Amino acid sequence: MTETIGAPRSDIDFAQTFQIEGQDVRGRLVRLGPALDQVLTAHGYPDVVSNMLAETLVLAATLASALKYEGIFTLQTQSDGPISLLVADVTSDGALRGYARFDADRVAEAETRNGAPVPRLLGQGHLAFTVDQGADMDRYQGVTELDGATLAECAHHYFRNSEQLDTAIYIAARTRRARGEKSVAGALMVQRMPHGKSVDPTDAEDAWRRAVAILASLTDDELLDSGLDHDQLLFRLYHEDGVRAHAAQALFHRCRCSRDKVANTLKSFPRAEIIDQDGHVGVVCEFCKSAYAFAPDELDRLFGATDA
Ligand SMILES: [Zn+2]
Repeated sequence: MTETIGAPRSDIDFAQTFQIEGQDVRGRLVRLGPALDQVLTAHGYPDVVSNMLAETLVLAATLASALKYEGIFTLQTQSDGPISLLVADVTSDGALRGYARFDADRVAEAETRNGAPVPRLLGQGHLAFTVDQGADMDRYQGVTELDGATLAECAHHYFRNSEQLDTAIYIAARTRRARGEKSVAGALMVQRMPHGKSVDPTDAEDAWRRAVAILASLTDDELLDSGLDHDQLLFRLYHEDGVRAHAAQALFHRCRCSRDKVANTLKSFPRAEIIDQDGHVGVVCEFCKSAYAFAPDELDRLFGATDA
């Protein structure tokens, strides 16, 4: 298990890698509890927005856990519906954060309608994955259209069309803060290994179908039951074939914003365009709502007094 020094510990905020015994199927189980609550508490979004952001966060953590990278994995939707933007990012050490942009009136109107979440709340647009490993490293990006009823379906389309990788993902989230409940989200993903060792293709096909059928039998209640730890849940699902759990990575909420980073960003704008009437600048981090205020004398130093 990955030790996360200085980060909040919880029994549920983990990404767990597993393998079904004797088969070319690997899996990821991710659940978020307190870490998710911390992200959502900072925002106070309407329920449907919180729910979509929770799904985005847990999907991001799941996809990130399947990649080998050192840096930042970002999952982002951009679309023309009531929720125009969803962003979640996860660092390779397990820090996650996220936010949404939405039109409150359109969200309120959408809440009165039934229908699949992606067409109803996000509309037309795309889902993008980015891996940023620093200036000298490759920047990997995948993009797919939002052509699915749910985020999980959109991710399926991506894997089928872009990666040619058989993938099944189940996502659930419960974020009813108004009733005083704790937020929880979970995702289970199984993937068929591209270069399997199985000798018999028919056996491999059967094993894959069984893994997908088991995933499809999962219920929201099971996935979101914090009384079941990861091992218990995996055993319950895959005990007939046998399941081997690998290292779990702890996930936690942490924003990477800082006064220095904000100051650096400010320097890229003309001072006259960013100051208010009194010559001050106020910036609020979209991810964590931290507020950064810069007084005129500080801006003098930042921009150089001659540039005032
Ligand atoms: Zn922040």
